[in-house]
Amino acid sequence: MKFGGTSVATAARWRNILELAASRRAEGARVLIVVSALSGITDGLKQLCTHADSKRRSDAAAALADRHHALLGEMSLAMPDTLGARLSDLSGLAEAGAAELGELAWQARVQAHGELMSSALGAAFLSANGLPTAWLDARECLHSVALPNQNERTRLLSAMVEPHHDPALSAALAARGEVFITQGFIARDEAGRTVLLGRGGSDTSAAYFGALLAALRVEIWTDVAGMFSANPRQVAGARLLQRLDYEEAQEIASTGAKVLHPRCLSPLREPRVPLLIKDTNRPELEGTSIGPEVREHAPSIKAISARKGITLVSMESVGMWQQVGFLADVFDAFKRHGLSVDLIGSAETNVTVSLDPTENLLDSDAIAALAADLARVCRVKVIAPCAAITLVGRGMRSMLHKLSGVLAEFGQLRVHLISQSSNNLNITFVVDEDVVDDMLPRLHELLIGAGALRTDDSMVFGPSWQTLYGAGDPVLPAAAWWQGERAKLVQLAEERTPRYVYHLPTVRAQARRVKSLRAVDRAHYAVKANTHPGILKVLAEEGFAFECVSPGELAAVSAVVPDDVPLLFTPNFAARRDFEAALRTRATITIDALHPIEHWGEMFAGREIMLRVDLGRGLGHHDKVKTGGTGSKFGVPIEHLDRFLRLADLAGARVIGLHAHLGSGILDAAHWGEVYSQLASLAERIGTIRVLNIGGGLGVPSHPGETALDMSALDRVLTAVRQAYPQFDLWMEPGRYLVADAGVLLAKVTQEKEKGAGMRYLGLDTGMNSLIRPALYDAWHEITNLSRYGEAATTMYQVVGPICESGDILGSDRRLPESKEDDVVLVAQGGAYGAAMSSRYNLRDEADEVLLP
Ligand SMILES: *Cc1c(COP(=O)(O)O)cnc(C)c1O
Repeated sequence: MKFGGTSVATAARWRNILELAASRRAEGARVLIVVSALSGITDGLKQLCTHADSKRRSDAAAALADRHHALLGEMSLAMPDTLGARLSDLSGLAEAGAAELGELAWQARVQAHGELMSSALGAAFLSANGLPTAWLDARECLHSVALPNQNERTRLLSAMVEPHHDPALSAALAARGEVFITQGFIARDEAGRTVLLGRGGSDTSAAYFGALLAALRVEIWTDVAGMFSANPRQVAGARLLQRLDYEEAQEIASTGAKVLHPRCLSPLREPRVPLLIKDTNRPELEGTSIGPEVREHAPSIKAISARKGITLVSMESVGMWQQVGFLADVFDAFKRHGLSVDLIGSAETNVTVSLDPTENLLDSDAIAALAADLARVCRVKVIAPCAAITLVGRGMRSMLHKLSGVLAEFGQLRVHLISQSSNNLNITFVVDEDVVDDMLPRLHELLIGAGALRTDDSMVFGPSWQTLYGAGDPVLPAAAWWQGERAKLVQLAEERTPRYVYHLPTVRAQARRVKSLRAVDRAHYAVKANTHPGILKVLAEEGFAFECVSPGELAAVSAVVPDDVPLLFTPNFAARRDFEAALRTRATITIDALHPIEHWGEMFAGREIMLRVDLGRGLGHHDKVKTGGTGSKFGVPIEHLDRFLRLADLAGARVIGLHAHLGSGILDAAHWGEVYSQLASLAERIGTIRVLNIGGGLGVPSHPGETALDMSALDRVLTAVRQAYPQFDLWMEPGRYLVADAGVLLAKVTQEKEKGAGMRYLGLDTGMNSLIRPALYDAWHEITNLSRYGEAATTMYQVVGPICESGDILGSDRRLPESKEDDVVLVAQGGAYGAAMSSRYNLRDEADEVLLP
């Protein structure tokens, strides 16, 4: 168990250590405590070393001794012999100065006293309070190795140890006692001199001891619960990473996380000693557990990190290709200037490398000198300040297909360099430094939305930093309605599966959220999302109009809602007879092509029509739901607008409205403001327009940790545009937003199957025939075993249906309780595009539909 400087600075903190160590002891473990110096003491000792005058050194030593006397007083302890001996050693060293030992060796000896004193004090406190604790001199156990590239300074002040399991040491300690305390940061070299371990030294010491003793585990106790999926200071929604393997943790530590020094993982890897990071103030939190690779985890990005202060050096050589020794010359220059290269990108005539912010680099002369040197072999350009944004996760290459939205975010910036690590654990983008702070929270959210950061895997991803440490009440996601209706749902499933259940209060609640948009004059429900008559009725009661895309939908709506409720007909590639049918209803017709007005113009004579335009781009949660841009079949492109208007004029139709709908599942309020103002400026040109319909596409979060669409922000955005264009009525037509969360699909487990290395399939009595969104859009739906609700989710399943298609998967890599035949399984968010898109494929029965009032 390792405790840092602030954790050992007060008597209260030591009581905490006592409690934690005693609890481990109670579990039957023998405990070795590794401590840092009391906070501030190491700096004091460094300061002491700078004084040339012996008197000033002695005064400094006395002041440092006083800190320990004071803490002893606070603990009501008399001066223990071990601490007394350390204090007199220190005062001797201070008085004598470097002379005899040599400057560096003396500094190491002096600075080692921080840990020597704190550990001596701790041994006395723990022993006096019921936990007999032996003081161990770390230098007896940790021996540094001299590496060929080290100079005397690094050997003494930044030493390395290569620990190997030493059963004799374990046995010797076992003979001496149960609880030990020792020092972080210090070791001994072959000559018997005291050496220091450099930055991150105490964590590294704990790791060295863990390896030496083949410990059960190493616990790093600090002021935060562990590693997070992003730097919490930049991303409040960053999630606690509860499980990592050594390599992933190493990557995260070396690409920015400060909790753990990257050095301390490699000693533990070979002996497979797990490392646990825990919060001293909140020991109940799970923390981060780092160990050997666990294959069963779903491939996932674990973290996104950013390092600032990166310098790029781009080297251009006309004839580099096949020029023997070019790279050798280049890298030789970096070596001569003491600069170590991190990332490398190369092309036929260009090599670009990145340099980490090291002490050497702080001195900008170093770069200038390097550039001058390199200029002899190539053309050099230095790009700074840059930042490196790194995505870390095992199996990065297998996740690339999920990253398109994330990569698109980089599209708007200048990406100077992209580098994929050869161990398949990270991908790094180097961009200008000033864009990083804005980008990181957005990227983190995009990764969650894309299912690349698998926040649904609660074994790996813990609570967000905001939830754990944020000021005020954490914003917990509202519990889904079905959690409170479990018993009823299980009963409904016992009667019959597969079965859709719709919760009407949720439909009403969502309807009221849409109605709260004061800028919107008329809200329509896009009925294709769910045409259940009960839902249509409720939405009519809530004051909605209805948007239909086929004669069938028009008929279904007309059969249920009152005659005065407005209807919209917004078809795509509909036949002439569809328009004829629609014109016999009261629906306002929207045309989205030249063909109808060009060839069937007489049909629209004397009519008021709306025109759907293609604004040239699409948006949405998946390519297949983007309904704008040349790649999509919807809308009249802007370059055909005038032609359409001329044809309409010829036909005697009056174009009174413009419509655009760019896609589905959009969570960013700004989107509709852009569509609105684009339509408004087109409308001003046209002159006859009264109405702007900005479509639907309002998303609901699906992955845990995604933020909901902010309706009051949306209202502000819309109100702002409205003030600029008060002459137009504003219409919207959401579908998914109103009904998605209201519906769940209930199914029963049919069979279980194991294949290959731990692939577990869980079969349900329905699949893509009832819910095709996962197969069609890679949509993510939460899946819960209702029969085992609340049981620990221990097994990773592929949740599949009975359809003879490999794509018949409802959820991949889902962690659920161990499940059995006939268990009732719930698939959430099935209210939109669930039953509406179901089929009788394989002649399987369609799910029936039940309403909960
Ligand atoms: C499908 C559709 C909608 C509704 O989309 P959601 O994402 O369900 O809100 C709105 N307008 C048109 C024209 C549509 O085709």
